[in-house]
Amino acid sequence: MGNVIQLSGGKDSLALLLIAIEKGYKVDEAVYFDVGEWEFQAVRRNIEKAKKLCEQKGIRFTTIHPAIEFPVLAWEREYIQRNGNKKKGYEWCGWHGCRWGTTQKIAQLDKYCGDNLQIIGIAKDEPERLEKGVGSNKAYWLNEWGLTEADCLQYCYDQGWNWLEYEPLTDKYIELYSVLDRVSCWCCGNKNLKELYNIYRFLPSYWKRLEEYQIKTDKPFKESGSIFELAERFKLGCVTKAELKKFYKEEIK
Ligand code: SF4
Repeated sequence: MGNVIQLSGGKDSLALLLIAIEKGYKVDEAVYFDVGEWEFQAVRRNIEKAKKLCEQKGIRFTTIHPAIEFPVLAWEREYIQRNGNKKKGYEWCGWHGCRWGTTQKIAQLDKYCGDNLQIIGIAKDEPERLEKGVGSNKAYWLNEWGLTEADCLQYCYDQGWNWLEYEPLTDKYIELYSVLDRVSCWCCGNKNLKELYNIYRFLPSYWKRLEEYQIKTDKPFKESGSIFELAERFKLGCVTKAELKKFYKEEIK
Protein backbone atom coordinates (compact mmCIF):
# COMPACT_ATOMS: atom_id res chain seq x y z
CA MET A 1 0.00 0.00 0.00
CA GLY A 2 1.36 3.42 -0.95
CA ASN A 3 0.91 6.94 0.41
CA VAL A 4 -0.74 9.26 -2.10
CA ILE A 5 -1.03 12.99 -1.50
CA GLN A 6 -3.96 14.73 -3.15
CA LEU A 7 -2.72 17.97 -4.61
CA SER A 8 -5.17 20.70 -5.62
CA GLY A 9 -2.71 23.55 -6.13
CA GLY A 10 -4.09 25.51 -3.17
CA LYS A 11 -2.17 26.47 -0.01
CA ASP A 12 -3.20 23.51 2.17
CA SER A 13 -2.37 20.61 -0.11
CA LEU A 14 0.81 22.34 -1.23
CA ALA A 15 1.93 22.89 2.39
CA LEU A 16 1.08 19.23 3.02
CA LEU A 17 3.41 18.11 0.24
CA LEU A 18 6.23 20.50 1.16
CA ILE A 19 6.15 19.69 4.89
CA ALA A 20 5.85 15.94 4.28
CA ILE A 21 9.02 16.17 2.15
CA GLU A 22 10.76 18.31 4.79
CA LYS A 23 9.82 15.92 7.59
CA GLY A 24 10.93 12.91 5.55
CA TYR A 25 7.50 11.24 5.48
CA LYS A 26 7.00 8.44 3.00
CA VAL A 27 5.22 9.89 -0.04
CA ASP A 28 4.92 7.57 -3.03
CA GLU A 29 2.76 9.67 -5.28
CA ALA A 30 1.07 13.04 -5.65
CA VAL A 31 -2.15 13.09 -7.63
CA TYR A 32 -3.78 16.16 -9.14
CA PHE A 33 -7.32 16.30 -10.51
CA ASP A 34 -7.29 18.76 -13.40
CA VAL A 35 -10.47 20.88 -13.62
CA GLY A 36 -9.25 22.23 -16.97
CA GLU A 37 -10.18 25.79 -17.89
CA TRP A 38 -11.86 26.35 -14.52
CA GLU A 39 -8.43 26.54 -12.88
CA PHE A 40 -6.74 29.86 -12.17
CA GLN A 41 -3.46 30.28 -14.08
CA ALA A 42 -1.53 30.79 -10.83
CA VAL A 43 -2.76 27.42 -9.57
CA ARG A 44 -1.78 25.71 -12.81
CA ARG A 45 1.70 27.27 -12.57
CA ASN A 46 2.13 25.99 -9.02
CA ILE A 47 1.04 22.53 -10.08
CA GLU A 48 3.74 22.52 -12.75
CA LYS A 49 6.30 23.65 -10.15
CA ALA A 50 5.13 20.98 -7.69
CA LYS A 51 5.37 18.37 -10.42
CA LYS A 52 9.03 19.28 -11.00
CA LEU A 53 9.67 19.13 -7.24
CA CYS A 54 8.08 15.67 -7.05
CA GLU A 55 10.23 14.48 -9.95
CA GLN A 56 13.38 15.74 -8.15
CA LYS A 57 12.34 13.96 -4.95
CA GLY A 58 11.45 10.67 -6.66
CA ILE A 59 7.72 11.06 -6.01
CA ARG A 60 5.50 9.86 -8.83
CA PHE A 61 3.22 12.65 -10.12
CA THR A 62 -0.11 11.82 -11.73
CA THR A 63 -2.71 14.06 -13.32
CA ILE A 64 -6.28 12.81 -13.56
CA HIS A 65 -8.67 14.36 -16.05
CA PRO A 66 -12.45 14.25 -15.85
CA ALA A 67 -13.96 11.88 -18.41
CA ILE A 68 -15.85 14.87 -19.85
CA GLU A 69 -14.54 18.45 -19.50
CA PHE A 70 -16.38 20.41 -16.80
CA PRO A 71 -17.51 23.30 -19.08
CA VAL A 72 -19.09 20.72 -21.39
CA LEU A 73 -20.86 19.04 -18.47
CA ALA A 74 -22.00 22.42 -17.15
CA TRP A 75 -23.42 23.91 -20.31
CA GLU A 76 -23.52 21.54 -23.25
CA ARG A 77 -24.11 17.88 -22.53
CA GLU A 78 -27.70 16.74 -22.48
CA TYR A 79 -28.82 14.45 -19.65
CA ILE A 80 -32.07 12.93 -18.36
CA GLN A 81 -33.39 14.42 -15.12
CA ARG A 82 -35.00 12.36 -12.35
CA ASN A 83 -38.43 13.36 -13.65
CA GLY A 84 -37.52 11.93 -17.04
CA ASN A 85 -37.18 15.29 -18.78
CA LYS A 86 -34.13 16.09 -20.88
CA LYS A 87 -31.92 18.95 -19.77
CA LYS A 88 -28.83 20.61 -21.23
CA GLY A 89 -25.94 20.88 -18.77
CA TYR A 90 -25.72 20.63 -14.98
CA GLU A 91 -25.20 24.43 -14.88
CA TRP A 92 -23.38 26.19 -11.98
CA CYS A 93 -21.27 23.89 -9.84
CA GLY A 94 -21.20 24.61 -6.12
CA TRP A 95 -24.65 26.23 -6.31
CA HIS A 96 -26.88 25.49 -3.28
CA GLY A 97 -24.59 22.71 -2.14
CA CYS A 98 -24.83 20.94 -5.53
CA ARG A 99 -21.17 20.27 -6.09
CA TRP A 100 -21.45 17.90 -9.02
CA GLY A 101 -17.82 18.60 -9.99
CA THR A 102 -16.53 17.74 -6.52
CA THR A 103 -18.58 14.53 -6.52
CA GLN A 104 -16.97 13.49 -9.81
CA LYS A 105 -13.52 14.49 -8.57
CA ILE A 106 -13.82 12.45 -5.34
CA ALA A 107 -15.22 9.42 -7.18
CA GLN A 108 -12.38 9.43 -9.72
CA LEU A 109 -9.71 9.97 -7.08
CA ASP A 110 -11.13 7.19 -4.87
CA LYS A 111 -11.19 4.84 -7.85
CA TYR A 112 -7.65 5.76 -8.88
CA CYS A 113 -6.19 5.49 -5.36
CA GLY A 114 -7.84 2.14 -4.61
CA ASP A 115 -6.40 0.63 -1.42
CA ASN A 116 -3.61 3.21 -1.15
CA LEU A 117 -3.66 5.69 1.71
CA GLN A 118 -5.03 9.04 0.48
CA ILE A 119 -3.47 11.96 2.34
CA ILE A 120 -5.77 14.94 2.10
CA GLY A 121 -4.84 18.57 2.78
CA ILE A 122 -7.47 19.58 5.33
CA ALA A 123 -6.19 21.84 8.08
CA LYS A 124 -6.84 21.65 11.82
CA ASP A 125 -9.33 24.53 11.75
CA GLU A 126 -11.70 22.86 9.29
CA PRO A 127 -13.47 20.42 11.69
CA GLU A 128 -16.56 19.95 9.50
CA ARG A 129 -14.51 18.92 6.46
CA LEU A 130 -12.39 16.64 8.65
CA GLU A 131 -15.48 14.95 10.04
CA LYS A 132 -17.02 14.48 6.59
CA GLY A 133 -13.84 12.97 5.20
CA VAL A 134 -13.41 10.21 7.78
CA GLY A 135 -12.53 6.95 6.05
CA SER A 136 -10.28 3.99 6.66
CA ASN A 137 -7.90 4.80 3.80
CA LYS A 138 -7.76 8.58 4.36
CA ALA A 139 -5.27 10.54 6.45
CA TYR A 140 -5.08 14.20 7.45
CA TRP A 141 -1.48 14.99 8.28
CA LEU A 142 -2.00 18.78 8.50
CA ASN A 143 -4.47 18.15 11.32
CA GLU A 144 -2.07 15.70 13.00
CA TRP A 145 0.66 18.34 12.80
CA GLY A 146 -1.73 20.92 14.34
CA LEU A 147 -1.54 23.25 11.35
CA THR A 148 -4.24 25.79 10.55
CA GLU A 149 -5.07 27.21 7.12
CA ALA A 150 -3.17 30.39 8.00
CA ASP A 151 -0.12 28.31 9.01
CA CYS A 152 -0.23 26.53 5.65
CA LEU A 153 -0.39 29.76 3.67
CA GLN A 154 2.46 31.29 5.68
CA TYR A 155 4.56 28.16 5.22
CA CYS A 156 4.09 28.28 1.44
CA TYR A 157 4.96 31.99 1.34
CA ASP A 158 8.04 31.37 3.49
CA GLN A 159 9.16 28.71 1.01
CA GLY A 160 8.87 31.21 -1.85
CA TRP A 161 5.55 30.11 -3.35
CA ASN A 162 2.85 32.55 -4.39
CA TRP A 163 -0.45 32.67 -6.29
CA LEU A 164 0.19 35.75 -8.40
CA GLU A 165 -2.41 35.94 -11.14
CA TYR A 166 -1.91 38.21 -14.13
CA GLU A 167 -5.02 40.26 -14.90
CA PRO A 168 -4.85 41.33 -18.56
CA LEU A 169 -7.65 43.93 -18.32
CA THR A 170 -5.75 45.96 -15.70
CA ASP A 171 -2.24 44.79 -16.60
CA LYS A 172 -1.64 43.98 -12.92
CA TYR A 173 -0.65 40.95 -10.88
CA ILE A 174 -2.97 40.01 -8.02
CA GLU A 175 -2.02 37.64 -5.22
CA LEU A 176 -5.09 35.39 -5.20
CA TYR A 177 -4.97 34.74 -1.46
CA SER A 178 -5.13 38.48 -0.80
CA VAL A 179 -8.59 38.61 -2.41
CA LEU A 180 -9.95 35.05 -2.10
CA ASP A 181 -10.36 32.59 0.78
CA ARG A 182 -9.89 29.64 -1.58
CA VAL A 183 -8.33 29.39 -5.01
CA SER A 184 -10.59 26.58 -6.22
CA CYS A 185 -12.43 26.93 -9.58
CA TRP A 186 -12.94 30.61 -10.47
CA CYS A 187 -16.62 29.92 -11.30
CA CYS A 188 -17.41 28.06 -8.06
CA GLY A 189 -20.93 28.82 -6.81
CA ASN A 190 -19.61 28.27 -3.32
CA LYS A 191 -17.60 31.50 -3.35
CA ASN A 192 -18.82 33.98 -0.77
CA LEU A 193 -19.95 37.53 -1.55
CA LYS A 194 -16.70 39.08 -0.40
CA GLU A 195 -14.73 36.84 -2.77
CA LEU A 196 -17.10 37.66 -5.62
CA TYR A 197 -16.79 41.37 -4.94
CA ASN A 198 -13.03 41.00 -5.12
CA ILE A 199 -13.22 39.09 -8.40
CA TYR A 200 -15.40 41.91 -9.74
CA ARG A 201 -12.90 44.54 -8.60
CA PHE A 202 -9.52 42.91 -9.11
CA LEU A 203 -10.00 40.11 -11.65
CA PRO A 204 -12.36 41.62 -14.24
CA SER A 205 -11.44 39.14 -16.97
CA TYR A 206 -12.75 36.32 -14.75
CA TRP A 207 -15.85 38.39 -14.00
CA LYS A 208 -16.40 38.66 -17.76
CA ARG A 209 -16.21 34.89 -18.02
CA LEU A 210 -18.78 34.59 -15.22
CA GLU A 211 -21.06 36.91 -17.20
CA GLU A 212 -20.61 34.73 -20.28
CA TYR A 213 -21.70 31.72 -18.22
CA GLN A 214 -24.64 33.60 -16.71
CA ILE A 215 -25.93 34.34 -20.22
CA LYS A 216 -26.31 30.57 -20.69
CA THR A 217 -28.74 30.13 -17.78
CA ASP A 218 -31.62 31.72 -15.90
CA LYS A 219 -30.37 30.12 -12.70
CA PRO A 220 -28.87 32.85 -10.47
CA PHE A 221 -25.28 32.40 -9.39
CA LYS A 222 -26.10 32.96 -5.71
CA GLU A 223 -29.32 33.11 -3.74
CA SER A 224 -28.82 36.86 -3.75
CA GLY A 225 -28.91 37.14 -7.50
CA SER A 226 -27.43 36.57 -10.92
CA ILE A 227 -23.93 37.66 -11.90
CA PHE A 228 -25.48 40.75 -13.53
CA GLU A 229 -27.51 41.61 -10.40
CA LEU A 230 -24.42 41.19 -8.26
CA ALA A 231 -22.47 43.47 -10.62
CA GLU A 232 -25.14 46.17 -10.21
CA ARG A 233 -24.74 45.94 -6.45
CA PHE A 234 -20.95 45.84 -6.54
CA LYS A 235 -20.89 48.89 -8.82
CA LEU A 236 -22.38 50.82 -5.88
CA GLY A 237 -19.69 49.51 -3.56
CA CYS A 238 -22.17 47.28 -1.69
CA VAL A 239 -21.37 43.65 -0.96
CA THR A 240 -24.36 42.40 1.06
CA LYS A 241 -28.09 42.99 0.60
CA ALA A 242 -28.10 44.89 3.90
CA GLU A 243 -25.45 47.27 2.58
CA LEU A 244 -27.47 47.79 -0.58
CA LYS A 245 -30.61 48.54 1.48
CA LYS A 246 -28.66 51.03 3.57
CA PHE A 247 -27.24 52.63 0.40
CA TYR A 248 -30.72 53.25 -1.04
CA LYS A 249 -32.07 54.48 2.31
CA GLU A 250 -29.32 57.07 2.42
CA GLU A 251 -29.90 57.97 -1.24
CA ILE A 252 -33.58 58.70 -0.54
CA LYS A 253 -32.83 60.94 2.47
S1 SF4 B 1 -14.43 23.96 -6.50
FE1 SF4 B 1 -16.58 24.49 -6.80
S2 SF4 B 1 -16.86 24.58 -9.02
FE2 SF4 B 1 -14.96 23.46 -8.64
S3 SF4 B 1 -15.57 21.33 -8.60
FE3 SF4 B 1 -15.61 22.04 -6.47
S4 SF4 B 1 -17.72 22.72 -6.10
FE4 SF4 B 1 -17.44 22.54 -8.33
